[in-house]
Amino acid sequence: METQEFHCINCDEMLTFEEVSSQTCPHCGEHPTMRTFYCQGNGCHSKDTQPRHDAYGLFTGHYCDDCYENNYPYRKDRYDYAAAGERMDDDY
Ligand SMILES: [Zn+2]
Ligand SMILES: [Zn+2]
Repeated sequence: METQEFHCINCDEMLTFEEVSSQTCPHCGEHPTMRTFYCQGNGCHSKDTQPRHDAYGLFTGHYCDDCYENNYPYRKDRYDYAAAGERMDDDY
């Protein structure tokens, strides 16, 4: 059994299943699932994507499972921590 997580496509806040079902995000007031996100992997046009986050939990875009495994530039093991530190925001 996998626990499925839902994120608002507008503000990326995590939503409960009930909130997704109600079709209104309580965080931004927009429809949480209306837009379709195509995979951002190179040459990939899959619509079966998930919002992905880097090692710091920052949203990096939507990638399908395959690209997340093989074609994802922000994974922990390949991440440029020095560059990432430059854009970290203290008040986040
Ligand atoms: Zn939202
Ligand atoms: Zn892909």
